[in-house]
Amino acid sequence: MQETCTHQDQIQNPSPNTNGCEECLKMGDSWVHLRLCEICGHVGCCDSSKNRHATKHFGKTEHPIMRSLEQAEDWGWCYVDEVMIEPFSRKKSSGRKEQTTL
Ligand SMILES: [Zn+2]
Ligand SMILES: [Zn+2]
Ligand SMILES: [Zn+2]
Repeated sequence: MQETCTHQDQIQNPSPNTNGCEECLKMGDSWVHLRLCEICGHVGCCDSSKNRHATKHFGKTEHPIMRSLEQAEDWGWCYVDEVMIEPFSRKKSSGRKEQTTL
């Protein structure tokens, strides 16, 4: 079932907009892991979190690609093609180290 993601030219490599899930911060809620929208920099919580804001962000905006914001993880995900992009950092042209300040 593994296919190729055709949206990787849309990756903007943005800085995270917030230091946690944007919606959870507003609600005062908590999350498990964080996902960064690679189109607009929206930070949302993963599908293991009860609110699943990263997936909801895709539902709202149709931004196809997110990546894990966890330090130890280096992968992205395309919601449209439903493929893993791994390792994610090598797909970036700049190759600079991401700084996550949590
Ligand atoms: Zn794709
Ligand atoms: Zn959230
Ligand atoms: Zn987005």
